[in-house]
Amino acid sequence: MQRYSHEEKQPNMPHAHGYAATDPKSPLAPFSFERREPGEHDVVVEIEFCGVCHSDIHQARNEWKSSSYPMVPGHEIVGKVSAVGSAVTRFKVGDAAAVGVIVESCRACENCKDNEEQYCFKGAVETYNSKMYDGSPTYGGYSNVIVTDEHFVHTISPKLDPAGVAPLLCAGITTYSPLRHWKVGPGQKVGVVGLGGLGHLGLKFAHSFGAHVVQFTTSLAKAEDAKRLGADEVVLSKDEGQMAAHKGSFDFILDTVSAPHNMDAYLALLKRNGVLCLVGIPEEPVSVHPFSVLANRRSLAGSGIGGMKETQEMLDYCEEHGIVSDVEVIAIDKINEAFDRVVKSDVKYRFVIDLKTLKQG
Ligand code: NAP
Ligand code: ZN
Ligand code: ZN
Repeated sequence: MQRYSHEEKQPNMPHAHGYAATDPKSPLAPFSFERREPGEHDVVVEIEFCGVCHSDIHQARNEWKSSSYPMVPGHEIVGKVSAVGSAVTRFKVGDAAAVGVIVESCRACENCKDNEEQYCFKGAVETYNSKMYDGSPTYGGYSNVIVTDEHFVHTISPKLDPAGVAPLLCAGITTYSPLRHWKVGPGQKVGVVGLGGLGHLGLKFAHSFGAHVVQFTTSLAKAEDAKRLGADEVVLSKDEGQMAAHKGSFDFILDTVSAPHNMDAYLALLKRNGVLCLVGIPEEPVSVHPFSVLANRRSLAGSGIGGMKETQEMLDYCEEHGIVSDVEVIAIDKINEAFDRVVKSDVKYRFVIDLKTLKQG
């Protein structure tokens, strides 16, 4: 087993290569860079699969106006451990491992101490398009290798298909966490809006937690799939009659939509004290009529990914219940086509890059 201490120099800083966006408009293209020299708490993961999240597209295209370039996207990472620092306790060389949306937080604030590192007061460091606290840029999983502090590395089950596990690291935890926070379960009527990467996992979790689940979609062609994935009912959201039939009846609705849409139409479907939770992040601010929330004392809420403890709990739950993402595995040179297809809602239901297809740089 390869081990080294912080003091010993690694013979090689991990040389990395992958695909990067260099500006908001150009296609992603091959890019080489260095990973940091691993420290005593670091785990080096050779990346096998990385999911393609709609957030990768929003950021590569600067839709949230917070992008820096070059940007190597990707925060749904699974692979094998190739080296560990001397203080690492949970991983050894050869283990399967996963990295999600954040790679550092202050670990000392109230939210970090409560295992909600994603809401760190100092600002959690994201896996890409972010800066470590020393100012160095972070690069994501559309690449061959990543060096991450073990606190932000998860164990994954060898029983599950690793390509199907990758999307759990963002799409999975982002839907699992609010469903758990608002205690979705038997006896409740729950809606999932949008059947994409997040939506199809939200649907699987809500169904698995025992709720009566209604899937909202704009895509008629996805209706049969929605039933197969666990929906008790499917509503075509463009059909006003179908929407009106559910007025005032939901306990909880999880909104995963990536583009602007009518929030008042979904708020109207909540019963008294019902909650509409946004996890989708359209480019523009949402607008809500006050009557939509004061009627029935409704709440409009939001939720961001999940903490490290809950992410591991979600991964363990998926192992126990055999839950993985439905994936279309692609070669990395198809990433630009994949981005365009995601924007057209044309993916079943997550693209996952097979990093074996990355040519050695
Ligand atoms: P996705 O796979 O593209 O799914 C989004 C779905 O929204 C589509 O499949 C489509 O479903 C629906 N949709 C798209 N355009 C629409 C429109 N104009 N009107 C109505 N519905 C539309 O994206 P994703 O990867 O699941 O991500 C979804 C959103 O969550 C993104 O904005 C992403 O940035 C955000 N996100 C947030 C967090 C967080 O921490 N909160 C984490 C990850 C991602 P139908 O075809 O069924 O209509
Ligand atoms: Zn994501
Ligand atoms: Zn903190």
